[in-house]
Amino acid sequence: MGIRRGATVEEAVMNVRRRRRHRADILNEIEADITELKENLCPSTEDRSMWRRGSGYKTSFSTNETWRILRVNYTQCSWSRSVWFPQATPKFLFIVWLAMLNRLSTMDRISSWSRGVDETCVLCKCAPETKNHLFFGCSFSSQLWEYLVKGILGSAYTNDWNAVVLLITDQSMERKKLFCIRYAFQAAVHALWRERNKIKHDDKPLPLPVLQKLVEKGVRNKLSLMRIKGGKGMQRVLQYWFGARL
Ligand SMILES: [Zn+2]
Repeated sequence: MGIRRGATVEEAVMNVRRRRRHRADILNEIEADITELKENLCPSTEDRSMWRRGSGYKTSFSTNETWRILRVNYTQCSWSRSVWFPQATPKFLFIVWLAMLNRLSTMDRISSWSRGVDETCVLCKCAPETKNHLFFGCSFSSQLWEYLVKGILGSAYTNDWNAVVLLITDQSMERKKLFCIRYAFQAAVHALWRERNKIKHDDKPLPLPVLQKLVEKGVRNKLSLMRIKGGKGMQRVLQYWFGARL
């Protein structure tokens, strides 16, 4: 086309000569665009740098609009804020996050890539281990979950994973109640996964009553801290937790 590789748009527009048709369509399209540009030139007006923005080309730059042009928009995850909340304990929420995505190495998943493994749940020893069984369909797990939240949830109590996920995403719930359930959920999932792994690695698990008291104490310590740092609606969260103990 007679345009050097490092040419500016100005050089290309001013120097290009119309030639016979090219074999490659793209070259014809480029030449048509350059010709159109040349016809629309206003030699009397000074050139200006423009930023491409969502609302068109502007002289001022906007990080907000540029970010929106660059990023890919995905559907918002309905439960993300219920898991990744500011006061969550990182080691708990990481395990919960994996569980939410069904990425924990539960035996049903392991058996899909390693045939012949024993799929039995090591906590109750009477059902195949799946994520929904471990949290909290299992007779062992459900007793920990029930111990922690039955007093708060009352008739709304459930040990079904999908129903529990709906509970922790219920924004209409009172703030301190929602926090207690979310935090207890994370503490329970983490503790059960840890106990399950202990047995898998031939370590001795904690007896259920000890585990219940230990996890409850962890929740209580967190709520004690939240009473000071939690802000509006959280002042009496610890009393609320004590009031809901069975
Ligand atoms: Zn079980």
